[in-house]
Amino acid sequence: MFSRILVANRGEIALRIIRACKDLGIESVAVFSEADRDAHYLKQADYRVCIGAAASSDSYLNIKRIIAAAEITDVQAIHPGCGFLAENAHFAEVCESSNIRFIGPPPAVINLCGNKSDAVRVAKQCKIPTVPGSEKVLETPEEAIDCAKKIGYPVIIKAAAGGGGRGMRVVHNDISLRNAFFTAQREAEAAFKDKSVYLEKYVEGARHIEVQILCDGESYLHLGMRDCSCQRRHQKLIEESPPPGVPSRVAEAICKAAIKYAESIKYVNAGTVEFLLDRRGRFYFMEINARLQVEHPVTELVTGIDLVHQQIRIASGEKMRMKQGHIRQEGSAIECRINAEDPDAGFKPSPGLIKTYIIPGGPGVRLDSHAYAGYKVSPHYDPMIGKLVVYGKKRSEAIAATRRALAEFHIEGIKTTIPLYRRIFNDAAFVQGGIDTSYLDSFLVGSSNAG
Ligand code: ADP
Repeated sequence: MFSRILVANRGEIALRIIRACKDLGIESVAVFSEADRDAHYLKQADYRVCIGAAASSDSYLNIKRIIAAAEITDVQAIHPGCGFLAENAHFAEVCESSNIRFIGPPPAVINLCGNKSDAVRVAKQCKIPTVPGSEKVLETPEEAIDCAKKIGYPVIIKAAAGGGGRGMRVVHNDISLRNAFFTAQREAEAAFKDKSVYLEKYVEGARHIEVQILCDGESYLHLGMRDCSCQRRHQKLIEESPPPGVPSRVAEAICKAAIKYAESIKYVNAGTVEFLLDRRGRFYFMEINARLQVEHPVTELVTGIDLVHQQIRIASGEKMRMKQGHIRQEGSAIECRINAEDPDAGFKPSPGLIKTYIIPGGPGVRLDSHAYAGYKVSPHYDPMIGKLVVYGKKRSEAIAATRRALAEFHIEGIKTTIPLYRRIFNDAAFVQGGIDTSYLDSFLVGSSNAG
């Protein structure tokens, strides 16, 4: 087992990993940018190293500085968290060549998973259902239009190197496809320094269902599914496990497909295989994320398995002792991402000083957050400031407890997604369960009309 780990991330997820290190008796090294210098969570780490200016390219994305910090503090491993360098195969390679263990999959696996259109091709080879699409990167709008004619509108243009819903466009005809093609390329180039885009049939009324996998190189296990259908601009806001109302036959088939995929690419460490599930119970492979997901706590609450502990153990070379039959899912867990954003202004980021921060508690409530009264939300980074994760023996109990927690949770000084969640948790369609990815847009239109 490692004795010291560097956490190459910031905020809530850095704190989550520092906490896991403490649980395992491992020392942690936090790195921080000048913008994060005063953040309280840094005090929880055993060592702290400033790695540069606020801009991510000068700090959290700066491989040289992170490796230098790791060498100075003499760590044996680096946990990349979620975002920043978590899915950067080159970073994983540099770690390995510097004799520092990267807590995640091997570089070749990250590479494959990082190119969505390659990842879909592997699914096809495994005979896992996929959405009809271009199967390769498209060079011109004419090629895209030809492809859309074959598969039929609506289609979705996606960035091959994509993530976080960026570079993605749904289009319904040739004219909008032509325009959207260049916009998607530009967005992809700006966000990922790779303008490659490809096309898929847009599955209407689908749910986003994903499977948590855990692999140590010999055993391939799944920890059940999560439902992440409550999204804005193709980005997740509320996630839950298990997904309500999925017949067990379908659930088993989806989990089996996820394992088959993981085995075929010799996946190692924690990962997530994402699917779309349509109204008729048909599912399609969408992509695989070669990292810990933001929404991992809902799986932890229903399985009782700490995913960050498992990641660290696997990276240190330990083999998992549990078998698939040992993994039980009990109860229901729901996560709300607390973002410094204004839902009434198109989710515009709302950085600034948090003046009041009154947190919820009580049975079933877990709050993963690095924020506090007096904390300044930086405009430089992702607006997520925490995750409210609530457990109940039944879904209805998890919903009631989330409502109670949201009522207790008060943040003043900045706008957050909390008031929106209070409304969603009182919405009959959400409470009933089984919403699809178009739910939130319709809910927002409906509630603004009503207001
Ligand atoms: P990212 O990696 O940017 O998060 P994903 O491929 O995971 O992108 O897709 C994000 C979301 O976009 C999905 O959860 C889903 O809501 C929507 N989406 C992606 N592909 C399709 C598709 N073919 N049909 C319908 N919705 C899709």
